[in-house]
Amino acid sequence: MTSRIPFVGGNWKMNLMRREVGELVRGVSSAVADSRVECAVYPSFVYLPDAIAAASAGLSVGGQDCSDELRGAFTGQVSAGMLKDIGCSSVLIGHSERRHGLGESDALISRKLGRALDAAVMPVLCVGETLAHRESGVAHAIIESQLRASLAGHSEAALARLVIAYEPVWAIGTGRTASADDASEAHDTIRRTLAVLYTARFSEAIRVIYGGSVTAKNAADLFSREAIDGGLIGGASLVAADFAQIIAAASARVRR
Ligand code: PEP
Repeated sequence: MTSRIPFVGGNWKMNLMRREVGELVRGVSSAVADSRVECAVYPSFVYLPDAIAAASAGLSVGGQDCSDELRGAFTGQVSAGMLKDIGCSSVLIGHSERRHGLGESDALISRKLGRALDAAVMPVLCVGETLAHRESGVAHAIIESQLRASLAGHSEAALARLVIAYEPVWAIGTGRTASADDASEAHDTIRRTLAVLYTARFSEAIRVIYGGSVTAKNAADLFSREAIDGGLIGGASLVAADFAQIIAAASARVRR
């Protein structure tokens, strides 16, 4: 098994009110306590300070997005520097609900990645194909092109703490999960692309996690694969007991 430390993220999207955020953060904090995973939760921007205050030392809190700008007249945006300033250690970049829902381009995502790196906030870069891409046999080409374009201009040294989330769009929030075989193949494509763009050593060190309808039931199967270093979890991360089981499944990678 790999020496990469598993990473599990809970993307809470536009869910949960303040009291619920506090309760869930406390629940996840105890689940993480005896695990061997790195775990982060991504609440709404407005509840980040509450989440940070409630989180145990083993649980980090991050932003669901950041601006591609440093500062200035950008109404409604939040900079990577602001996330860092309040104690966020990571940020999701290029989530499909922003790529496909809001039309974010690879060029924009690449600039956001740069801002996160400059602010020393660990980027969790999301890539993944649509159902049409998969059905027409171009899924792997799409993943490779998203990676190439998003990483363009960023050096291996700057990207040392990068996490990549493979999130097939057709599996997000749909209850349809990629099979462990399909996810592993996509992760292999990601690693091959990283090795071409950078070095084999870099490609082996970077964590590649899977996201798309991961549940307490299917997590162990997915995380039993060498190529799958953990998960980015949406719906199932909103239920403390389910998320705890997913964290335990990722933690089992280390004990083997
Ligand atoms: C996500 O939003 O990144 C995600 C994977 O959601 P879900 O687990 O609900 O499919």
